[in-house]
Amino acid sequence: MGMQLSQEAVQKANEEYQVMLQSKEQSMLVDSIVTPFFLGMKNEGFSLVMSQSDCMILRPCPTCRGSYSGKYERDSQTYWGCPHCNEIVDD
Ligand SMILES: [Zn+2]
Repeated sequence: MGMQLSQEAVQKANEEYQVMLQSKEQSMLVDSIVTPFFLGMKNEGFSLVMSQSDCMILRPCPTCRGSYSGKYERDSQTYWGCPHCNEIVDD
């Protein structure tokens, strides 16, 4: 069962991304596609699952074949979120 970030969530995340770009507070992967999606996910309560070496866990998206489908967690359930399709699926 897939979900998607709402238009409002995407819009808000893009605004936060613009602010972040100007603040130079860039402790994470900054990418015009990945970062706004990540911020939107965070606003919806998803947090990134990090690998042992403290990196984002990524995989190619099975839907669009794009890179950077990232692993997220919410309420002890893991999900994959693709910034290209804007799609969130159960792990
Ligand atoms: Zn995708």
